[in-house]
Amino acid sequence: MAIPETMTAAVLYGPNDLRLQQVPVPRPGPEEVLLKVHACAICGTDPKVISAEWPYPLRYGEFTPGHEYAGEIVAVGNNAGSWKAGDRVAVEAHKGCGRCVNCMRGQYTSCLNYGKPETGHRHYGFTTNGGYAQYVVNHINTLYEVPDNLPYWGAALATTAGCAMFAIENVGGFMAGETVAVLGPGPMGLMALQIVKALGASRVFLTGTRQERLAIGKKYGADVIIDVTKEDPVAVVRRETGGLGANLVIEVTGDPIAAAQSIEMAAKGGRISFIGDPLKPALMNIKKFVLDDMRAAGVRGEGRANCARAMELFRIGKLSAEGIVSHRFPLRDIHKALDLYINRRDGAIKVVLEPQA
Ligand SMILES: [Zn+2]
Ligand SMILES: [Zn+2]
Repeated sequence: MAIPETMTAAVLYGPNDLRLQQVPVPRPGPEEVLLKVHACAICGTDPKVISAEWPYPLRYGEFTPGHEYAGEIVAVGNNAGSWKAGDRVAVEAHKGCGRCVNCMRGQYTSCLNYGKPETGHRHYGFTTNGGYAQYVVNHINTLYEVPDNLPYWGAALATTAGCAMFAIENVGGFMAGETVAVLGPGPMGLMALQIVKALGASRVFLTGTRQERLAIGKKYGADVIIDVTKEDPVAVVRRETGGLGANLVIEVTGDPIAAAQSIEMAAKGGRISFIGDPLKPALMNIKKFVLDDMRAAGVRGEGRANCARAMELFRIGKLSAEGIVSHRFPLRDIHKALDLYINRRDGAIKVVLEPQA
């Protein structure tokens, strides 16, 4: 496969200074592969990285963001296992150092050597170059085979689905027949909804404000849709569960009010998973949390190879990106794509860049 010397990549020069330019195509080292990026989704974290709200230092002038991508392997480095040119893969953003205590326990998204590439740690699109480019190098630990029935623009949602799956695993899961509330009908919420339905939730509540997103949730099987501009979600969940509350609450919005409501609507002995990354601290009723014997988990990434199981759910048709990916743009239109995504123009939900288009 012919690999060019240079490629187009979006390079961050400073806060909100993202420039498209020609840069050398990177070469894979040991245990790495070179990917031809076919699709890279814009994540809610990306505007934070680009505008310097992300609380870690970035390598301005050489750094390429983008962490939700999928593509084709075009070259492999030494010791790359069975991966070969032509394989279709999706990636996860985190690669732990593999030697700190957290990595040893499988908690590589909480690697204690975060941001230290010399230890082997990588966070693609954050501390390591990512997928807003035509080519990118990834460690083999971050690769997941894409099933034949999944196009690249859907496979770019591997981490969106993987995060939703980890949100369920990390809090201790739930039993088939239990009730689940998903707060926020964004891409991650719509993935979480499909997953809990696949796992046998008896009743799923979906909260939100945007009608077009709630309508997609309805299509994906949400049993009770709650428009929070019209109804109090805590009251509705309590009423519809006979006063018991939801057994599992998945908080995706990052809104401090929704975060506080998650405790109020959870059942005794309930579980709450926080995926939304709040811009402000939330005031929460910890007294209720304690007295009702609740459990909570924070989820900062896909974790514990959940992307592998997500790919399997896509393969058997239990997960779909249909309707969640609302727009696709070539990489040259990245500024337009970011503007549309950030300002939620034109019903934007998940916006995907296609660097080969
Ligand atoms: Zn993301
Ligand atoms: Zn580590």
